[in-house]
Amino acid sequence: MIKDLFKMEPSGQTVSVRGWVRTKREMKNLVFVELYDGSCFAPIQCTFDRSASFDAETEDALKRLSTGASAEICGLLLSSPAKKQRVEIAAKSARIFGEASAETYPLQKKGHSLEFLREIAHLRPRTNIIGAAARIRSRLAFAVHAFFQERGFQYIHTPIITASDAEGAGAMFEVTAPCHKGDFFGRRSFLTVSGQLEGETYALALSKIYTFGPTFRAENSNTARHLAEFWMIEPEIAFAHIEDGMTLAEEFLKYLLKDILKNRPDDLAFFDERVQNGLVSMLETISESGFAHISYTDAIKELEKYSDKFEFKPVWGFDLQSEHEKFLTEYVVKGPLIVTAYPKEIKPFYMKQNSDEKTVQAMDLLVPRFGEIIGGSEREDNLSRLMERMKELGMDAAPYWWYLDLRRYGSAPHTGFGLGFERLVQFVTGLANIRDVIPYPRAAGLAGF
Ligand code: ATP
Ligand code: MN
Repeated sequence: MIKDLFKMEPSGQTVSVRGWVRTKREMKNLVFVELYDGSCFAPIQCTFDRSASFDAETEDALKRLSTGASAEICGLLLSSPAKKQRVEIAAKSARIFGEASAETYPLQKKGHSLEFLREIAHLRPRTNIIGAAARIRSRLAFAVHAFFQERGFQYIHTPIITASDAEGAGAMFEVTAPCHKGDFFGRRSFLTVSGQLEGETYALALSKIYTFGPTFRAENSNTARHLAEFWMIEPEIAFAHIEDGMTLAEEFLKYLLKDILKNRPDDLAFFDERVQNGLVSMLETISESGFAHISYTDAIKELEKYSDKFEFKPVWGFDLQSEHEKFLTEYVVKGPLIVTAYPKEIKPFYMKQNSDEKTVQAMDLLVPRFGEIIGGSEREDNLSRLMERMKELGMDAAPYWWYLDLRRYGSAPHTGFGLGFERLVQFVTGLANIRDVIPYPRAAGLAGF
């Protein structure tokens, strides 16, 4: 693939590449064809010297090749006189696989808006920007697995169809099948909003687990941060307290950033130049810094000092708005921040309560320019306290009998967190809209194909 050619020492050896034409330029005696195959950011330049003669197939290809066409080009690998690339191909032959009509190919010109590209989701991976986002997404997914596997975590596939609402996390999509008497599953069933509860059952058997799978929320909000279908990573560790979760979250995020900085510098350089200036140095700094910690209560006190700066006034007992989160990370601590001990009213039923009876052992990891990227907690492992909290919240405990069993048999302190995978890719690329970091975004009124 092209990425391998860029690593070779050019010595006039014969090579061949297959890919798609990024650009074709014709000079008097030279034809330049830039070919890309998606294996790396840069295309490779193939130069045809018209003073030589080519076979009929090559002549035909040179006529019909245009932006978007697919071809195979063979030639000699030479060092390139051009500044932006190290090697190029002195082309000897070319063969076209498929044309792309210059009149109708939608990506004929560069510089289309991201909005326009969303309308041609099937072709947009051929653009620099969506191709780069896809490579970063792929590498990050690999790094997620590498991080946990290196540390002895087992990968658990939690169900996509479920009967329980993990945390009132969001409205659920109902699953049903036509032509069936009553409910297909014998009861109302939904697409999962989180794998956490099932993940806990395996953590209390295998000690350290993680999930990484699709998650669904019927969000009404049409925001640049929400999808109806997204991927979530949820580690869960037994015999661990909230501090262990915080350490894990910090190590995890730093590991992912270091990995992507090392393995996709070409794509990151593009996002730094075109999407968010200073992106690479920000990611480097975060990957090496120690994360600050603050309690929710202290964070509110801090925010109250700047009350007039906010659209939503910071008030104890209400969730931090994203303007508050950004302010804390960008102006107060100037770096990543872990906020702990949130009021129990704004957090789900399963979080372990602090002795003050007002707050829970929750932790949110906030990052500059973005706000919350990870949310987690120590779970309530005491049966009666958990049941009491469910009662307070007016929850019916019956459907949770299996979840409560974890507290009946061999209960142990355990801790976990969730990272929305698309939010991570957004943060790493600087892309403002979550719809550009997943191949086929699903949102209210937008299923596409
Ligand atoms: P938000 O307040 O942004 O809606 P949340 O509090 O509902 O997030 P959690 O229930 O804690 O989020 O879910 C865990 C993680 O999943 C979040 O930190 C976020 O990264 C991601 N996430 C949540 N909802 C969505 C969504 N609709 N689309 C994409 N990612 C999401
Ligand atoms: Mn939400």
